[in-house]
Amino acid sequence: MQNHWDDAKAGDTPLDQLVYMSRIMGEDEALVVWGGGNTSTKVVEPDLLGRPTELMLIKGTGSDMKAAQPKDFPGVRLEEIRASFDRDEMTDDEMVAYFGRCMVDPAASRPSIETLLHGYLDAPAVAHSHADAILSLTNTAARDETVSEVFGTRVAIVPYRRPGFRLAKEVAIAAKNNPQAEGIVLMNHGLITWGDTAREAYDRHIALVTEAEEFASRRSHATPAPTAMKPPGRPDAQRRAVAARVAPVLRGLASERTRKILRFDDSADILRFLDSPRLRDVASVGAATPDHMLNTKRSPMVVQARDAGDVDSVIDALRREIVAYIAANVAHYERFKTDEPLMDTAPRVVLVPGVGMWTVGRDMRACVIPSDIYHHTIHVVEGAEAVDHYESLGDRDAFDAEYWPLELYKLTLAPPPKELAGRIVLVTGAAQGIGAAIARRLAVEGAHVVVTDVNAEGADSVAAEIVKTQGTGRAIATRLDVTSESSVVAAFDLTRLTYGGIDVLVSNAGVAHVSPIDELSLEEWECSMAVNATGHFLVAREAMRLFKQQGLGGNMVFVATKNVTAPGKDFGAYSAAKAAEAQLARVLAIEGGEHGIRVNMVNPDAIFAGSGLWSQHVRQHRASSYGIGVNDLEDYYRERNLLRVAVNAEDVAEAVLFLASDRSAKTTGAMLPVDGGLREAFPR
Ligand code: ZN
Repeated sequence: MQNHWDDAKAGDTPLDQLVYMSRIMGEDEALVVWGGGNTSTKVVEPDLLGRPTELMLIKGTGSDMKAAQPKDFPGVRLEEIRASFDRDEMTDDEMVAYFGRCMVDPAASRPSIETLLHGYLDAPAVAHSHADAILSLTNTAARDETVSEVFGTRVAIVPYRRPGFRLAKEVAIAAKNNPQAEGIVLMNHGLITWGDTAREAYDRHIALVTEAEEFASRRSHATPAPTAMKPPGRPDAQRRAVAARVAPVLRGLASERTRKILRFDDSADILRFLDSPRLRDVASVGAATPDHMLNTKRSPMVVQARDAGDVDSVIDALRREIVAYIAANVAHYERFKTDEPLMDTAPRVVLVPGVGMWTVGRDMRACVIPSDIYHHTIHVVEGAEAVDHYESLGDRDAFDAEYWPLELYKLTLAPPPKELAGRIVLVTGAAQGIGAAIARRLAVEGAHVVVTDVNAEGADSVAAEIVKTQGTGRAIATRLDVTSESSVVAAFDLTRLTYGGIDVLVSNAGVAHVSPIDELSLEEWECSMAVNATGHFLVAREAMRLFKQQGLGGNMVFVATKNVTAPGKDFGAYSAAKAAEAQLARVLAIEGGEHGIRVNMVNPDAIFAGSGLWSQHVRQHRASSYGIGVNDLEDYYRERNLLRVAVNAEDVAEAVLFLASDRSAKTTGAMLPVDGGLREAFPR
């Protein structure tokens, strides 16, 4: 492991150096992933009344080391922290309340749960990580001998215990009893080092981790680890095709309590690990640290299909395994249960040899975290298997880590999920106008959105905007020509692979032709039928198939038109094709009912802003047919509706949100006009 310390960048004050140390540690994922690890430094600063006071600046809970800022290190009064050492017991709740009373700035972020551990150590600077290489030593059967063999008396060892008051005390005692030590190895947890300065603590940390890495690497050369096998030979495209077909079934099974997003990962280290003959054994051992457990759960679900190249075989294995997986989780809970209710028993990490890994979460971010952690779990397992055999927490400790009230309490502080959280929506014709407005609106309500259009660049920019405002992974874009069967299938396959399935199809793509029928060319007629009728059929058929596979019901919203109920002169090709769309929607509602699939329509009228339908040609044509100027068209349409209002794409998006959400749970086969009120277009 490389030592990244650079005095020129580290700054002058202890706080500067603490921030710097935290960043360079956080940037190395082999040390800490996603909020793991913490650092501190002890200083003397004037208190409120100007009296010199010993303080510890310690990483706040929930902050990420790689993005550390000075404000992420609240100060606590050391005299008070140290005084708690003499207690015999301190519950987590008491400890958190105690920290609150020791803080110099009550408004600062809450100090790390490992505050006492840092505070009880005498050294001015302390660094703590969950380094992969250290875990490769501690998560083995012969952990004590191994750690002693590697580090001798330079580190003290503290057996596994969940972080809190007692662990902090045991660490302090171990440090006092081993005055020659530069650090402490926490079994199944990580490494603590200290020094007079942040640099000294950091240098020792990197040196010890490097020695652990070198030890594991020497061992793996001596005896090749059973996990270090070659990846399977099946071509990527074939494997991914299987994954795309299997994903909706997995998503349906994993969404029993709440809708989940799936993330597929078939990178080389994953495939190599999946191919290991000891996969089931090492995977069932479970998470490497209690910290990891919170994100990956106790153990992944392993799905071994008879033939990983055969979709049905993988699905069979999946259905079988999930029953066993859930039963094992329930039994585990029953064995140790506390006041905490049984958590969602769906797996977070799913390993399918020959196919790949899925991570499961309420949104894409919640899929990325266990995915990143599992990559590190693999490094730890491979290291541990090179040294000895991978071992982790016992069942009791695993349960206590998973059902840790302090961590569960943190979850209750999170904002309630948004209305469309965990929902996946595919919108056609979403590069501009109504489609883009719908994509944005549903994303704001928490949906993950697949932005599709024949205009790939336009779709890209709408998706990029959603990602920017709503967060990583919340939208993807793909080119989709609704008139092409293969293009439709490809877009749905991409969606299956990216998110695991679909909950809502918004079938919106359309084109308008204006011409009296006697002047309408066959080509124009056929083009309108291809986009405005067949296009809806092709996407709806694919959605229907996916919904049935997924088994979670489904929802389709068709963007039709006021012309369905009140056709207009010169709109023959458009109105006839849109009538076919409307009739298709009704039949889908009839056929979908028994599967919990709802199908509804919105009928907009005269949406100008950003619309692809209202080309300059169409505008001129409409204006001249009403005998008015092109610039008077908006006013003309506004004056013609009952409410005398202009109708916008955003108004249509609101109606689609209503139909796409559970607010309209009891409505199907319906038609909702968004036209300001047009008497001749009243649905009947
Ligand atoms: Zn820790």
